[in-house]
Amino acid sequence: MNQDTLCLHAGYTPGNGEPRQLPIIQSTTFKYATSEAMGKLFDLEAEGYFYTRLQNPTNDAVAAKIAALEGGTAAMLTSSGQAATFYAIFNICSCGDHVVSSSTIYGGTYNLFAVTMKRMGIEFTFVDPDCSDEELEAAFRPNTKAVFGETIANPALTVLDIERFAKAAHAHGVPLIVDNTFATPILCRPFEWGADIVTHSTTKYMDGHASGVGGCIVDSGKFDWTAYPDKYPGLTTPDDSYHGVTYTERFGLAGAYITKATVQLMRDFGSIQSPQNAFLLNLGLESLHLRMQRHCENAMAVARYLEQHPKITWVNYCGLESSKYHALAQKYLPDGCCGVVSFGIKGGRPAAETFMKHLKLASIATHVADAKTCVLHPASSTHRQMNDEELKAAGVPSDLVRFSVGIEGAADIIADLQQALDAVE
Ligand SMILES: *Cc1c(COP(=O)(O)O)cnc(C)c1O
Repeated sequence: MNQDTLCLHAGYTPGNGEPRQLPIIQSTTFKYATSEAMGKLFDLEAEGYFYTRLQNPTNDAVAAKIAALEGGTAAMLTSSGQAATFYAIFNICSCGDHVVSSSTIYGGTYNLFAVTMKRMGIEFTFVDPDCSDEELEAAFRPNTKAVFGETIANPALTVLDIERFAKAAHAHGVPLIVDNTFATPILCRPFEWGADIVTHSTTKYMDGHASGVGGCIVDSGKFDWTAYPDKYPGLTTPDDSYHGVTYTERFGLAGAYITKATVQLMRDFGSIQSPQNAFLLNLGLESLHLRMQRHCENAMAVARYLEQHPKITWVNYCGLESSKYHALAQKYLPDGCCGVVSFGIKGGRPAAETFMKHLKLASIATHVADAKTCVLHPASSTHRQMNDEELKAAGVPSDLVRFSVGIEGAADIIADLQQALDAVE
């Protein structure tokens, strides 16, 4: 089935007389007739639900839909995109390990890596996604366990050369983890280009209506952990907390990674998405294919309008021929470049503030990538913990305005931009 059909039908197939819409299983616990039956679940010898801190049927149906859209073998929902990123890496890294990451990543992810995970003893080397092969090569260490990047970076809007990064990762025997939040599987499926694990902040386009914070991790099932048993003992040697289960043996390459993340990390940290939010996410996914198409069309119209406006100093949108990333976008994003456009206004920071104050339709929100147009000045909000040098390295100059084009009428969005730009001196 193609993506459009999967958006509606993957993950849940009602039987005769069953609810047509995915039911919300709003239950903490699940009942069993005997302790023996329950014991088998705890030993991972039988499949089934016992406690919603680890797994819930509503969540699993939605995760299965996202896995189908990405072309993966297994997936799990998390309570946020941050939790997804953390789990994706912590599932295969411990104290003393190292990760190579693109430097142009979401501000929250940068903080998670550079500050919080560093405190856990996991070190990150940040590389410019446009660095040379030699520079990328030089970032690896003997204790490197993963490579991380974003398909379309938030908010820098750089496009990751997924194939190049996957090749480098695989040459060092480590997986490539790609945050595919901005592209969504409608515009890009990183597994087709060699990525091994995909993460999402489902808070953005997938939910699409600014209704629920959430995340997702999808495994391609393609990375062979058993080829590097010394690097990934957590997957390839017995887990004492489950009577000696070895994940790669019991669950195969298709299921080992997500099972381990569920039964260890969800068990111990419990960052699970609520079934209610998973239901809302599923409603969003049902129209993801239509919304992404409209976001792309509208953003293209906005980018073209801004590009010719005399008060605009630069426009960054990889759909534009003028973009440094146009060639990569044609390769990885042939159906569109998402709805997020960034630009600078003549007069820098104060001009950006005046402009934003005068917008009427576009709302100022610490949000991005949903149905309604919104706008943000990262340097004074999401990225304010960074100094000017770090901002530049992250691809977020202090004059950058991030404009998230919604699915309203393009003419109305452009009229709003026009009147706000008129107000700028
Ligand atoms: C928003 C975002 C995150 C974090 O997700 P939350 O759901 O806010 O925790 C991670 N990566 C990208 C690219 C994002 O846009």
